[in-house]
Amino acid sequence: MSRHAVVLLSGGLDSATTAAIARADGFELTALTVEYGQRHQCEVAAAKRVAKALGVRRHVVERVDLSAMGGSALLSDGDVPKGRTADDMEHGIPITYVPARNTVLLALALGLAEVTGAADLFVGVNAVDYSGYPDCRPEFIAAFERLANLATKAGVEGTLKFKVHAPLIHLTKAGIIRRGTELGLDYGLTHSCYDPTPAGLSCGQCDSCQIRQRGFADAGLVDPLPYAR
Ligand SMILES: [Zn+2]
Repeated sequence: MSRHAVVLLSGGLDSATTAAIARADGFELTALTVEYGQRHQCEVAAAKRVAKALGVRRHVVERVDLSAMGGSALLSDGDVPKGRTADDMEHGIPITYVPARNTVLLALALGLAEVTGAADLFVGVNAVDYSGYPDCRPEFIAAFERLANLATKAGVEGTLKFKVHAPLIHLTKAGIIRRGTELGLDYGLTHSCYDPTPAGLSCGQCDSCQIRQRGFADAGLVDPLPYAR
């Protein structure tokens, strides 16, 4: 019998690679995509394409609107920064940080895991090119895993021992792209841009586009996505 896992699938490059790794590790997957009030629908459409391509058992799209909370450029609170240098990106927490996002998303994944009887959660956080987000660090993942086992009926009763897998956490962006490519993942299905054009073209200038483009260049591979510039 194959093991069952819940994977957080945003539609971006990292979560798609994480899902491909989980599948290659022999897990049967339930994918969870959260519509949290992102500026655009490109991510959700990408998540649907990736889920289909990876043959997930079930794809749950859940709407939890964080835009009422605000506090992030990704929730239409201020403009997405463009053309920042690598040095800018390495310092400080950018305004594209969504307050407590990964805690909220993992909590939803945990609830779904408990309901579906999955002890394993997969999340595509990455501490190397993490753009300064505190909830992408190994300490955060370890703390959440502890919480998962304290906070649930299945954890307390011992029917499930939750494990939070973050297989990308120590990989560079180039390393992530190489790994996904080895697993046959089509990165043309994914979406990374924080501020795409109305037609859905990636801007090529936001932090996420720049990190992605540098990752492909460093991996010696071609990004299959078209860019506005
Ligand atoms: Zn962009």
